[in-house]
Amino acid sequence: MQCEICGSSLTGRMFTIQIEGATFRVCSSCAKLGSPVRNKKAVKMAVKKSSGYLEEPLLELRKDYNKVMRQEREKLGLSQEQLGRKINEKPSVIKLLESGKLKPNDLLAKKVEYALKIKLLVPPESE
Ligand SMILES: [Zn+2]
Repeated sequence: MQCEICGSSLTGRMFTIQIEGATFRVCSSCAKLGSPVRNKKAVKMAVKKSSGYLEEPLLELRKDYNKVMRQEREKLGLSQEQLGRKINEKPSVIKLLESGKLKPNDLLAKKVEYALKIKLLVPPESE
């Protein structure tokens, strides 16, 4: 790789500059001859990051999820095993959830919500 202006080999930092619309890869001493070219990729990524921020409302697992789970399961007359079968989880998982020892991830919480027709994930404001 050589500086496109003076021809010296680019051993140190390489600069990309623009002179009258043309782009040159140059050494540090020639960099001041033109205006620096911005890294287009970096700009694009920054835009992507800032747009679409907080599209979905953030949901939180309600604090009494284990009590609600147990109540609703019993209301429906399901055993822990039956509920486990319904959502494709081991009864021991249901047991841990209902005792509050295990916090369900979003996917598991949604499965339980669907099976018991309850809401476990709620907006942070409503408690
Ligand atoms: Zn140069």
